[in-house]
Amino acid sequence: MSLHTSLKVGGPADLYAVPEDAADLQNLMIWLRNENMPWMAIGKGYNLLVRDKGIRGAIISLERFNRVELTDKICVRAEAGADNLALVRFAQERGLGGIGFISGIPGTVGGAIRMNAGAYGNGILEHTQCLTLLRDGNVQEFCMGELNFGYRHLSLEPGDIILAALFKLQECDAECTEEEIRKDLELRRSKHNVGFPSAGSFFKNPSGQAAWRLIDAAGMRGTRHGGAMVSEVHSNFLVNSGGATADDFLQLSAMVKNAVFQTSGVTLEEEVRIVGVE
Ligand SMILES: Cc1cc2nc3c(=O)[nH]c(=O)nc-3n(C[C@H](O)[C@H](O)[C@H](O)COP(=O)(O)OP(=O)(O)OC[C@H]3O[C@@H](n4cnc5c(N)ncnc54)[C@H](O)[C@@H]3O)c2cc1C
Repeated sequence: MSLHTSLKVGGPADLYAVPEDAADLQNLMIWLRNENMPWMAIGKGYNLLVRDKGIRGAIISLERFNRVELTDKICVRAEAGADNLALVRFAQERGLGGIGFISGIPGTVGGAIRMNAGAYGNGILEHTQCLTLLRDGNVQEFCMGELNFGYRHLSLEPGDIILAALFKLQECDAECTEEEIRKDLELRRSKHNVGFPSAGSFFKNPSGQAAWRLIDAAGMRGTRHGGAMVSEVHSNFLVNSGGATADDFLQLSAMVKNAVFQTSGVTLEEEVRIVGVE
């Protein structure tokens, strides 16, 4: 899985499947059930820390499900494997906007929905009308009012696969969106250019506080464990400075959490999804 995650660590999965289309995915699900093999969908692995012993079960990549379409004047439906920026650009070309804040968030629509990815106080699910899920082998539609979600959080059932999302956008001048995209990408180039593989912010911001400030206050900027390091550029980014293992990240994360708790009494919670055999 080190080949499929931005942290570039993690042991192998038993199976890595890239279904061609809906029928192929349905057949795969039938096969997995018959084999009694658990599964997990992933996007581009920008928020995943896979343990060194890997994953017992199947990883399903929806990279071939990447269609984006206009469903009415201001609604756009995007399949889970579409890139965030591709979605923003598609909307922009049709005079729609309001989700420019996801343009610079690396990954897919499915990953963004699962994480309620966001920036500058925005979350993608605030702009989402409904989700198409593959649950218990059936394609089901859910309006956001039926689902529980919050900051970097969406409650789903284990095994749910997000197939697509419907976004309600605003009519918006293409130039305005261009300016929003440009500002976002520029800000990220200056703040997120940490020079090493990362998964973005490793910890969630505790209510009303910035995780990076707490990490700095605990004196952890630049701290290393094996090949894992608290970035010198952005202290909420844990980076692979070369040859890191997943265990290096887990140990460094525990060190950071401990130091922050000792100095500020706050328990940090990982934003990065930690998966695989313990
Ligand atoms: C440099 C950098 C900057 C970043 N900046 C931000 C930021 O500003 N804001 C932010 O929120 N995040 C940020 N991130 C984190 C990351 O980009 C987001 O969490 C992104 O949404 C992950 O998308 P992905 O497609 O890579 O998902 P993955 O990492 O592949 O998956 C994330 C989770 O979603 C699940 N998942 C993915 N697809 C599906 C699906 N189709 N069905 C069911 N479950 C699914 C996975 O199982 C996993 O639990 C940043 C990361 C990096 C490296």
